[in-house]
Amino acid sequence: MRHITIVILFTLTFNFTYGQSQDEIVIRNIFDNVLLSDVAYNNLEYLCEKAPGRLLGSEESIIAINFMKNYFEKLSADSVFLQEFKTPTWRCNNTQTSILIGDNEIELRADALGPSPSTPKHGIIDNVIEVHSLDEVKTLGYENIAGKIVFYNRPVDMTIVNTFRVYGSAVDQRYYGPRVAAEYGASGVLVRSVGTRVDTFPHTGSTGFKDIKIPCAAISTVDANILSDAIKRDSNLKVKMIVDAEYFEEITTFNLIADIYGSELPDEYIIVAGHIDSWYNSPGAHDDGAGCVQAADVLRIFKELGLNNKRSIRAIMYMDEELFQSGGIAYAEYSEKLKIKNYLALEADAGGFTPEGFTVDASDSNFVIISEYQKLLEPYGINYIKKGGTGVDIGPLKPLGVPLMGYRTDPQRYMDLHHSAYDTFDKVHIRELQLGSGNMAAIIYLIDKYGLETK
Ligand SMILES: [Zn+2]
Repeated sequence: MRHITIVILFTLTFNFTYGQSQDEIVIRNIFDNVLLSDVAYNNLEYLCEKAPGRLLGSEESIIAINFMKNYFEKLSADSVFLQEFKTPTWRCNNTQTSILIGDNEIELRADALGPSPSTPKHGIIDNVIEVHSLDEVKTLGYENIAGKIVFYNRPVDMTIVNTFRVYGSAVDQRYYGPRVAAEYGASGVLVRSVGTRVDTFPHTGSTGFKDIKIPCAAISTVDANILSDAIKRDSNLKVKMIVDAEYFEEITTFNLIADIYGSELPDEYIIVAGHIDSWYNSPGAHDDGAGCVQAADVLRIFKELGLNNKRSIRAIMYMDEELFQSGGIAYAEYSEKLKIKNYLALEADAGGFTPEGFTVDASDSNFVIISEYQKLLEPYGINYIKKGGTGVDIGPLKPLGVPLMGYRTDPQRYMDLHHSAYDTFDKVHIRELQLGSGNMAAIIYLIDKYGLETK
């Protein structure tokens, strides 16, 4: 009996050690490959240089989709197709704002929020009122707000360590500010850019109108300070606002999908995703060109190294994360209709910076399985695998019971450039980018090999 126990123990230990070292070797091979590859980096350069401002419905968004489609085809992915869907969209042609002092106009650097309506051609000129919260607008009430341009100027809380939470400390003004101001009769809204630098770049973003739509724009933090100072000197200050934008009730657009089939369970899909769209004012290097080229690189890694995935690996370049989040909804609906077995979905949409970890939104038992892999990825920069929010595009798969994951990077610089013209290709470092592709490929390799608990 004792003899048998010893043999079993030996066998178990041997298998575990052997298995682990095999995984370590595969993961090492993945990183040997990615750290010598510039494919994803070159793809990103193309997206930023040839298709900047690739907002849903724009010509640039189609250039970007076609470029990545061509890439997957050249890679000889088993299946490459466009998943078509219909959605409204919006386009900004021009934003101009200025302070009027006597006969002088002092220009403020501004970018309209999506989907702001247009002003009349020559703009609106109204008194401006500075506020610091949504509640302040409600307290001031109709008599103080009606007919004025409301200027939301509460800065972000820079003392918070994680910049996604810094962003969260002020983004309510951008998302809800125009809606609340409109309810009290405001003629327009200007919002201090939600970012972590004091600079001259406006950071746009989506705003959530209800019934009444009024023109609205983000101004740079430097310009917000200039405007605030001008209001202090003249409480009757007037501001001029011009927005030239178009709203389209329905257009046809696409998510781009590329698969490499699994050898044993080809009808189960492990999704690796980013979003191909970016704001109209931005090359979208970190948000989210980086996530797209990394997700695409996972397919290249599996093919080049012959990793023999059991399940199919599906790269999705989602359209429209930024404006209406229609691509994520469209894929979830398509999945439901076709009864597609989405086994797991991993999204990269937190910038292509140095890897930090993965977040998981799944059952406790699957979280335990996935978090075990942190040790294997620690040498490559994965310091945590923890529960948390994952990705906007894959979110609609949650009600279908799909385990979700988000790839997380060092967040310190992300809100410097988010949704602005500052988010350029040169801000992305090739090694940081490549480490992301490697870690995403490695965790997908492990999840595919050992499986999750399925109900
Ligand atoms: Zn994004």
